[in-house]
Amino acid sequence: MCKTATINKIIPMSLVDGPGNRTAIFFQGCNFNCSYCHNPETIKKCINCGVCVSHCPVGALKMIDGKAIWDENKCIDCDTCIKVCPHGSTPKTHEYTVDDLMEKIEENIPFIEGITTSGGECTLNFEFLEELFTKVKSLGLTSLVDTNGFISLKSPIMDGLVKAADGFMLDIKSMNEDEHIKLTGRSNKTVIENAVYLASIGKLQEIRTVLIEGHKNRETVENITKLLKPYPNLTYKLISYRPFGVREEFLELKSIGQKEKEELKEIVIANGIKVIDC
Ligand code: SF4
Ligand code: SF4
Repeated sequence: MCKTATINKIIPMSLVDGPGNRTAIFFQGCNFNCSYCHNPETIKKCINCGVCVSHCPVGALKMIDGKAIWDENKCIDCDTCIKVCPHGSTPKTHEYTVDDLMEKIEENIPFIEGITTSGGECTLNFEFLEELFTKVKSLGLTSLVDTNGFISLKSPIMDGLVKAADGFMLDIKSMNEDEHIKLTGRSNKTVIENAVYLASIGKLQEIRTVLIEGHKNRETVENITKLLKPYPNLTYKLISYRPFGVREEFLELKSIGQKEKEELKEIVIANGIKVIDC
């Protein structure tokens, strides 16, 4: 089967995308529209309108057969194309087959313990991921999924992916439904169901929440840790909000203070969950 996926970025070796040294693969396209997204250009796929092409100062963009093609070797990473894109997207992506990606991963084998797929929202490419993870496993490497949890992992069509993946790192943006919709544009119902389901089958590698001043941080941390209390060996990463890369209209968001964070850490620990302060 020759599936392809649009890839925004590959970091050959990353120490921040799961345990150990991992190749991190960022897929283009997301089903959330988070106000504090650090890479908002990864949300929508390029519609090949061609607007950005003439703005590139070094001729790294061309329209070929109706598609905006990016020449990575010429690109100087000025990001002008991203700034001028009227669609909020980027032409700086590549289409990969699973075998193309495997070639990239195999270059790193001596140095990595596995891969992490992220985004955008990588689970939108669930069939591609299942095939990729199966091949990665045959090399003795592990595969982790960094996900917003919007697609139900209990759904039969996701079964192959859940079996092929070694673990999932799940964002819990807010346990308050109204706040979650305001933050992401989507309900948190399936996200919460996925957290419990993954914990129950031993595949919840990590949950994470970005902590923002004025948000219902305590409600989120209290409710999710109480819900996950029955499951052993879980890790909760509490992340102080940082404004890097966010859209201009959301630059005013601030992180919570350290005192409030310490109180949240105590709640996590009281519910028997390991906390990572980021
Ligand atoms: S980031 Fe690269 S492709 Fe985009 S405008 Fe700058 S040089 Fe051109
Ligand atoms: S990146 Fe944006 S401006 Fe460039 S071709 Fe795609 S949709 Fe058009």
